[in-house]
Amino acid sequence: MALTQPIGLPESEPPADEGRVTPAMAQYFEIKAANPDCLLFYRMGDFYEMFFEDAEVASRALGIVLTKRGKYLGKDVPLCGVPVVRADEYLHRLIALGHRVAVCEQLEDPAEARKRGSKSVVRRDVVRLVTAGTLTEDSLLDARRNNYLLAVARARLSSAGEEARFALAWIDISTGEFRVAECEQASLSAEIARLDPGEIIVSDALFSEADLAGYWRSLPVVMPVTRDVFDGATAERRLTSFFAVATSEAFGTLTRLELTAAAACVTYVERTQIGKRPPLSPPLRESAGASMAIDQATRGNLELMRTLTGERRGSLLDAIDRTVTAAGSRLLAQRLAAPLTEPAQIARRLDAVATFTGDSAARAETRSRLAAAPDLARALSRLAVDRGGPRDLAAIRDGVLAAADLARALASLKDMPAEITEAMQACRKPDGMLAAELSAALAADLPAFRRDGGFVREGYDVSLDETRALRDESRRVVAALQARYAEDTGIRILRIKHNNVLGYFVEVTAQHGEKLMAAPFNGIFIHRQTLAGQIRFTTTELGELESKIASAAERALGLELEVFERLVAGVMAESPNIKDCAEALAGLDVASALAHLAAERDYARPLVDDSHAFVIEGGRHPVVEQALSRDGTPFVANDCDLSPPPPPYPPPQAGEEMENAGRIWLITGPNMAGKSTFLRQNALIAILAQMGSFVPARHAHIGVVDRLFSRVGAADDLARGRSTFMVEMVETAAILNQAGERALVILDEIGRGTSTFDGLSIAWATVEHLHGVNQCRALFATHFHELTALSARLDRLHNATVRVKEWQGEVVFLHEVTAGAADRSYGIQVAKLAGLPASVIERAKVVLAKLEQEDRAAPKGFEDLPLFAVPKPPHDARQPAEDLLAAAIAAINPDDLSPREAMEALYRLKEQAAKEPKA
Ligand code: ADP
Ligand code: MG
Repeated sequence: MALTQPIGLPESEPPADEGRVTPAMAQYFEIKAANPDCLLFYRMGDFYEMFFEDAEVASRALGIVLTKRGKYLGKDVPLCGVPVVRADEYLHRLIALGHRVAVCEQLEDPAEARKRGSKSVVRRDVVRLVTAGTLTEDSLLDARRNNYLLAVARARLSSAGEEARFALAWIDISTGEFRVAECEQASLSAEIARLDPGEIIVSDALFSEADLAGYWRSLPVVMPVTRDVFDGATAERRLTSFFAVATSEAFGTLTRLELTAAAACVTYVERTQIGKRPPLSPPLRESAGASMAIDQATRGNLELMRTLTGERRGSLLDAIDRTVTAAGSRLLAQRLAAPLTEPAQIARRLDAVATFTGDSAARAETRSRLAAAPDLARALSRLAVDRGGPRDLAAIRDGVLAAADLARALASLKDMPAEITEAMQACRKPDGMLAAELSAALAADLPAFRRDGGFVREGYDVSLDETRALRDESRRVVAALQARYAEDTGIRILRIKHNNVLGYFVEVTAQHGEKLMAAPFNGIFIHRQTLAGQIRFTTTELGELESKIASAAERALGLELEVFERLVAGVMAESPNIKDCAEALAGLDVASALAHLAAERDYARPLVDDSHAFVIEGGRHPVVEQALSRDGTPFVANDCDLSPPPPPYPPPQAGEEMENAGRIWLITGPNMAGKSTFLRQNALIAILAQMGSFVPARHAHIGVVDRLFSRVGAADDLARGRSTFMVEMVETAAILNQAGERALVILDEIGRGTSTFDGLSIAWATVEHLHGVNQCRALFATHFHELTALSARLDRLHNATVRVKEWQGEVVFLHEVTAGAADRSYGIQVAKLAGLPASVIERAKVVLAKLEQEDRAAPKGFEDLPLFAVPKPPHDARQPAEDLLAAAIAAINPDDLSPREAMEALYRLKEQAAKEPKA
């Protein structure tokens, strides 16, 4: 198709030969050299063309035809192009594949260039870099997701061994949101996982830092940038100049490192938007620990935003999203990604949800009004970067009006919690005059682009109306002229037509043409074109009329564009208020949507406080429950209690108390009983409660969880495609090293990825460590029944099992979690359910019976296992001296020591042995 139509490098000169660099080529090379890491979309008429390597890359990526045009240094110049009208579609695909695109436009009409001489080149320059993190177009964005650009800065270490500190700054330029936070290296990947940015920028130096290089490369979206972007010395100045404020005090108390990251963001935005400024909010600081830390593996595992296979459908977000606006959906996703840790803030959100659960009429009204509100934030942002159209203005008008209506409707609410009161105030913020002006100015039907014209309502602007009348009047004059020519010439089928090449012309059939080319008519009609059946003419009168029409139309469009500019300026003047209003609408959408969900699915308001409690009564899995209900299957609700047990009497000695130490539930039961479901539902309930949602339970009391960990044993983790035992152990290690008293840990079948005895031993030691050292609330599902013996010795370990019933040799899953241990694994019954041949099942039963007999005859000694050392809590630092000495000796490698070092080591050991007398 037209894609292959060669438009060619130089537009007014012959194809260049053998290394001769024509002015057009020189222009191309100069622009390309300034944007080496981007594909260059080079505007030529109705196409964006790509040349050389860009053409090869893009034609491969987009599956479009690669052609050639001219020669350079003796070689063909590869070329491909995409039509301007479909550019968004191609941009979308290139960005999704990780490319960046520099869009280079013609800055003048080719006619202008020709005036400077036939050899002169049309002025061109890059007007924008399109990168994954800096998109504004609806066609390039997912309406329901934020798209963040994230800058990561690292502090210089002042001493060796110090933990590196990082600052993160992130922007969604399509909504103006701007945040900063500091974090430790240990939580860097969890923070990045939470934000799930579309693009990450780091300095060249940080990008190639040895200990992080592997991590950066594992992320698909990292872009190293030059050092000046992250220059700490100029950060404050760049930031204050972007926001046009005098000092960075306007941004509160940002640290130097945070300023550096924030400045990197705005500098990158300025460079990609080539000077246009999206309406960013001033950077707002998020304090460390304000949200529940959830690492990448846990997020994936719990399928919070998407399933293990990468889809939104089937995720928790999908199950709970009842929002009616795109902005509401984005806010819901943000809240789900970052559950709060401050009970008062959580209660504030829950209050708003409760208002709407308690008043279904207000809820319905709110939701129907919200549904009529367009995406204010994104429309505003497009207008600010000069990519907006008339429909964006209409979106502002409709959004602002809907907000004002909503605020009026909500005023009648009986009890009004703080969150709703504030939202209502914000809804009223935008100046009513603006909406009135937009209503008066905009026509009923709006074109997609302002250059299409026709978007200003009749009666709004007097001079525009006059010009339009002139244009339309002239069109009537053309019609009258046609009638007159037909009359004068006696040719009844004479027509006046219009096309882009000839403009207006008189058209008659060939046989009538003769008549016009002869006297007396040849004095009036001037021949233009002869076609197969028709002959075309023009006249002086028609020519004059034409230029009148054209200039009137041009003037009308010019006037419309002036109106557009004026309206945009009006919108920009209100932009902070419109942004607050947009946020308020999103907040009301989330609150009413969560209320809707709670009413629909019978969720309860959780109690979240500073205790260490974890009591769920009648808990359900929010996603599985909905999936089952689609088939009409009921979900079996289950209780869970991980709260610290009441203190013993008499109270324990100071220093040994473990009053906040949570319980561990060890859950056994056959395959398919519902262990994994039970584990996850409790984690999901904690997340929902802390994000400010009602929860799928009859009752829930949760002491704030500051970190959540969830791991699945390798054998169960097939979907992740890297079911190696190593991964499982690395992840378990992370938990055992990091989980504190407030953590919630979910371990599902840990130790499964290796041989039985290895696996059992690791699971065993892991439970002991969680109980003795981490002391956190935990759920541990296992098929190792032997572990249940541990409860005799670990006082906060509780055995639970998922009940099954055996009925006529078949196993029936009851999905009921009760105290106790599974008596056996029912593996053979499950195998039978799965359809294994009867002969195999029978044979397996015989083998099992034999094995069980032998087991009894020669016990494997699991009963002896509790003699393994139980780890002590960390504050109990007394370790047997032999252990320390043994460790010190083990650390010595005699072959590596010089005689002198060997002597020194010997003295050290003697000293140590003397200090720690044998216990
Ligand atoms: P396990 O981890 O014990 O092998 P799962 O948790 O994977 O078992 O559950 C297996 C299936 O049982 C789930 O896919 C679900 O359909 C069903 N199930 C689990 N828990 C319940 C429940 N509480 N009520 C109803 N069905 C359940
Ligand atoms: Mg399971």
